[in-house]
Amino acid sequence: MRYAIISDIHSNLEALEAVLEQIEKEQIDKTFCLGDIVGYGPNPNECVELIRKNCEIILTGNHDYACVEPSELIYFNRFAKQAITWTLKNLSEKNLNFFSNFSFKTKINNINLVHANPHTPESWDYILSIDDAIFNFSKFDGQLCFIGHSHQPIIYIENSEQKYITKEEREMELLPDCRYIINVGSVGQPRDNNPASAFGIIDTSTNRYELLRVGYNIEKTHKKMIKANLPEFLADRLLIGK
Ligand code: ZN
Repeated sequence: MRYAIISDIHSNLEALEAVLEQIEKEQIDKTFCLGDIVGYGPNPNECVELIRKNCEIILTGNHDYACVEPSELIYFNRFAKQAITWTLKNLSEKNLNFFSNFSFKTKINNINLVHANPHTPESWDYILSIDDAIFNFSKFDGQLCFIGHSHQPIIYIENSEQKYITKEEREMELLPDCRYIINVGSVGQPRDNNPASAFGIIDTSTNRYELLRVGYNIEKTHKKMIKANLPEFLADRLLIGK
């Protein structure tokens, strides 16, 4: 099977459309979404609808969750908070209701999927270092765990001697005696100094993982955000992918 794993769309319609177009070309069997469909960007409704149409599994991210649990907003910085307030004004009732049915973590064919971390997904704690990864390796069963949340693609590997390394490879073979925590990056707001959308593909027949980067019309999204009065900082960071 070939699975596409996408995360952190953040209401960026141009990015999502470009990624879905690429997924179409990649002969994917199923697409999984690790959450944060909304927040930051200008097209929450279109993104929720497209994700629902195209993804077999849809997990909840902290921004999606904040739309239905306003108490979560205390953890947000002022730009993120402003964007959620804007999103709530613009999200249709139907799409908002979709977020009430949340799921933080799931497992399909031995592949763990979660937005933030497998240990306590609803804490939204980040996995940003090898130490964070080591702690989380002991908190899931199976070989693989896909995450998003930090918007930075990275691969953490545990080998059979319980040694740990980090890799930034775009393509790699998954070895049977290793375990992996893989961050697939962000579709709609990459933060690894590359403004192109990121997502992952896992091929279970060849045991290969690939990180794809797809360009999209960033200027168009940027213009829409400025016109919608969303924070300029959030629009500008798309141009540099940071
Ligand atoms: Zn996010």
